[in-house]
Amino acid sequence: MFDRVRTNWLVPGCVAVLLLTVLAGVQQYRWINRVSDADRRQRREVMERTLRNFSGDFRDTLLRLLPFFRPPPDEKNDAAFEPYMIEMTRRWHSTSDRPQLLASISIGTQSDQGVVFRRLQTGDNHFKTEDWPNEFVVYRRVLEERLRLPGGQPPLFPDGFAFEFFQGRPVLIFPLVTGAPPTPEWQRLRGWCFLEFDDDYLRQYLLPELMARHYGTGARYQVAVVASYPLSMIYGSDPTLTIGSLSQVNAGIVLLNANMPQDRQGPPPPRPEPQPFVSGPQGVPLAEIGGNLGGTDDRAWLLVVKNKAGSLEALVENARLHTLGFSFIIFVLLAGSSVMLMLATMRARRLAQQQMEFVAGVSHELRTPLTVIQSTSYNLSQGTIQDPSRVQQYGDVIQREARRLINQIERMLSFAGIQSGRRVYDLQPTNVTEIAERSLAEYAVPFAKDGWQIEQHFAEDLPLVLTDGPALESALKNLFENALKYAARGKWLSVSACAVQDRKGSEVQITVADRGPGIAPKDLPHIFEPFYRGQTAATTSGAGLGLCLVDRNLRALGGSVTVQSAPGDGTSFTLHLPVS
Ligand code: ADP
Repeated sequence: MFDRVRTNWLVPGCVAVLLLTVLAGVQQYRWINRVSDADRRQRREVMERTLRNFSGDFRDTLLRLLPFFRPPPDEKNDAAFEPYMIEMTRRWHSTSDRPQLLASISIGTQSDQGVVFRRLQTGDNHFKTEDWPNEFVVYRRVLEERLRLPGGQPPLFPDGFAFEFFQGRPVLIFPLVTGAPPTPEWQRLRGWCFLEFDDDYLRQYLLPELMARHYGTGARYQVAVVASYPLSMIYGSDPTLTIGSLSQVNAGIVLLNANMPQDRQGPPPPRPEPQPFVSGPQGVPLAEIGGNLGGTDDRAWLLVVKNKAGSLEALVENARLHTLGFSFIIFVLLAGSSVMLMLATMRARRLAQQQMEFVAGVSHELRTPLTVIQSTSYNLSQGTIQDPSRVQQYGDVIQREARRLINQIERMLSFAGIQSGRRVYDLQPTNVTEIAERSLAEYAVPFAKDGWQIEQHFAEDLPLVLTDGPALESALKNLFENALKYAARGKWLSVSACAVQDRKGSEVQITVADRGPGIAPKDLPHIFEPFYRGQTAATTSGAGLGLCLVDRNLRALGGSVTVQSAPGDGTSFTLHLPVS
């Protein structure tokens, strides 16, 4: 009763475990997706922050010149700009921690000859008039316009400075004004100051320094600074980096861009802070970094980053797939273990059940002949049977029952021997016809008594088979005994042997066929299992070991046993013995 309750719970319990495993799998899948989304966000944020910090540090370093060189507007008049700049340049070179950053300083102011452009070369102590560079003509135009107008114009740049490129080198530009606070509207534009940065210093010192500060040794990233127009390489963290290799990048930001569009007359509109750009799985072309970040202006320096291990998306996706793969394997293992545990438990229960039946069957099998022997021998010993023919008959009964007993015990010992691996087979070249005839002869009496028709067909040229005679004989006897037990309805038995040659080699086949009720399809796959008894066996004595022994013996001899049976159509067992 308890056993049945426990068995009944086994399948639903296992199904529940499997369902829970699937549910846990779905949860795990969602969780992994959430984790990888968070990972993607975090990596993106780190990348964006690093780009912002790099760009911010770069601009801050350049803009350190602005408060240093911008003259206080309430103290200076336009005539004093030049001596002021000469003095500040001298001080810059003597006090700054980056004196080489500044390459030259120029101013554009009003003079007797109109608006002039004057440059102070490094090492000189006076400004020299030069032609207005093409890059700055728009500043000249704005200055001329402003000088013609009365004061009180709105400030020219929202931040009070602009960046421009002169022959590809960055230049910081700020207005020179006179006029006192409090409001900037009182100030008057008197000229422009152009601070030109030293290109070599930027490439060889400042950018490598920032690279080391923000990207370390560059083990994971390749970092480059490129000028967008004309497209050229300013700095590359890696000697292998070229403009060609940067056709696709993973992230970037505008480092510097020229604020004043060349075709504009008035002041430029306020420009938003450059925003970092991190690409999707494929990477993006360089042009997209500039277009996305700095507006449509052509002249810019872009900081671009290539991930050595692929794009951020690809990295996160890779990690996600790995985690998913491992989780999947673990869930398959879990589910597989549950199923295997269930099957093993069911099998163990079935075996326990069969063993119980075996014990019951064996006890019955042993008790029946023993009871017969006991009562018959009692009668004989008491002298109640005097008639010699009856004595003979009683002797026959005792002999038959004793043989049945011995057979049964031998079968059990055989099974135990095979199970424990102790059984040793003595392989000898054997004539199977002889073995078959001898075995059949032993059952001639019972078959004849019940009126069986026996047919024998043994091919004449059967080759000798390397096999263990007694094991083969015992297998055949098992089949005959089963025929007697289960196929008594047909009372027909055929024993045949022939040699067969096929792709796998040659073998001798011994077939034992009957015209009994056949074996039910549901029993057929199990009849060779130990202790298994079919539905026809309910009223027949036996322990479910006969066919199991046949199968084990044949396999030990290098052969096999097959069965063909259909309900109502009889049964045919074939022993296959390879010819070596
Ligand atoms: P046992 O005879 O002790 O039950 P076996 O291993 O010899 O055990 O046979 C297993 C089962 O196969 C039998 O219980 C029976 O149902 C079925 N079987 C074996 N031989 C035949 C046969 N010739 N015809 C019909 N059923 C058979």
